[in-house]
Amino acid sequence: MSALFKLPPQPAAATSDGQEFPVRRVFCIGRNYAAHAREMGKDPDREPPFFFTKWAETVVPSGTTIAYPPETTNFHYEAELVVAIGKAGRAITQEDALDHVYGYATGLDMTRRDLQFEARDKGRPWDTGKNVEQSSPLGLIHPASAVGHPSTGAITLTVNGTIKQDADLADLIWDVPEVIAYVSRFYGLEQGDLIYTGTPAGVGPVVEGDTIVVSIAGLSDCTIKVGGKAGA
Ligand code: MN
Repeated sequence: MSALFKLPPQPAAATSDGQEFPVRRVFCIGRNYAAHAREMGKDPDREPPFFFTKWAETVVPSGTTIAYPPETTNFHYEAELVVAIGKAGRAITQEDALDHVYGYATGLDMTRRDLQFEARDKGRPWDTGKNVEQSSPLGLIHPASAVGHPSTGAITLTVNGTIKQDADLADLIWDVPEVIAYVSRFYGLEQGDLIYTGTPAGVGPVVEGDTIVVSIAGLSDCTIKVGGKAGA
């Protein structure tokens, strides 16, 4: 049989040593920093982190001008450490988890906060709030063979040069081995999967013309600019 049409190629990210990292799926951890859980109105001692998914095509490289998406008036940044999976596994133990990591990058989990809150408060799925076109900007993926497995170090985000998020990777409620162990209980992780590990406190809205920079100690920055309304 011949295909009726061609789909776009699988999305890919770039590594710090000039290779292509094909992106298979995107997992995102929610409420993984206590101060952020509290700013979202939740008690981190009573509600553990969790995860949701996004399409691989939401991943865009650092340097992209992303369109302001439709159906929101409260589009937010979330700075995150991103884990790139290089080895498949299911029900991975915390002890083995780091063997499954190819590398690490800075990233953003851009969010239609108004739609996310509406969904959350009505007990509906989060797709329209989170699985947003161009909503997963990603910096270069640094191989763990070069940078190790960062578990401490500054994670910061600026908007037009002003610091808005300023925390430390040590503040993660679930660290990287715990995140990998948890997600892999539900899904077999595969090469090319990305796990956005959650954002610290200080999230907020963006407007057209803003420049957002995420920095994590030892990794390349992820920089985006916010463009005009999608389709406008
Ligand atoms: Mn997030």
